[in-house]
Amino acid sequence: MRILIAEDDPIIADGLCRTLRASGYAVDRAANGLDADTALVANTYDLLILDLGLPKLPGLEVLKRLRARNSTVPVLILTAMDGTEDRVRGLDLGADDYMVKPFELPELEARVRALTRRSSGSSPMMYHGPLRYDQVGRVALMNGVPLDLSARELGLLEVLISRAGRLVSKDQLVDQLCGWGEEVSHNAIEVYVHRLRKKLEPGGVRIATVRGLGYCLEKPQEVSGA
Ligand code: CA
Repeated sequence: MRILIAEDDPIIADGLCRTLRASGYAVDRAANGLDADTALVANTYDLLILDLGLPKLPGLEVLKRLRARNSTVPVLILTAMDGTEDRVRGLDLGADDYMVKPFELPELEARVRALTRRSSGSSPMMYHGPLRYDQVGRVALMNGVPLDLSARELGLLEVLISRAGRLVSKDQLVDQLCGWGEEVSHNAIEVYVHRLRKKLEPGGVRIATVRGLGYCLEKPQEVSGA
């Protein structure tokens, strides 16, 4: 899951960024409207968190351009307390939800989960043999027992389980797991896969390496037949 935060207040942007990264999201940041617009043209995001009061290009204009390109990426707008009119215009222009500043980070996280879940069109609970992944609570369970996974490992598992039985390339994993300013190499991906694999294998769930290409979370029936 990759999120763009368009926010010019460094304190708010830092807080959002830290919270969402700790939950395993890949996060990019833009401190003005033009940079946000450029990033949205260049990359694919699962969610845009958009401050309406942005320098260089107002948030509403960023939103208008985004929807004019027929992008369906969910948008959560951040507005000032007295910004009722902007909020209504934002929703009219195709924003999906809004939060009024100052907001509580846990509430924001809950809305982020709801919006990304809606956009992925998948149910909040994903099943893979004895493995269950709760997208809302961001918890993985093996035979009902919670697995102790780092934020990176959870992010990795989320990508693999949503494409179970299919090949996922290292480049796709880098793209899904990392935001700007985070150097994550193919070697680091190999380390995360190695750690996750060790935690899944006792339950009989295998991550296959497709040499030179990437990884594949094997179908449960293939595992039991092996
Ligand atoms: Ca602002």
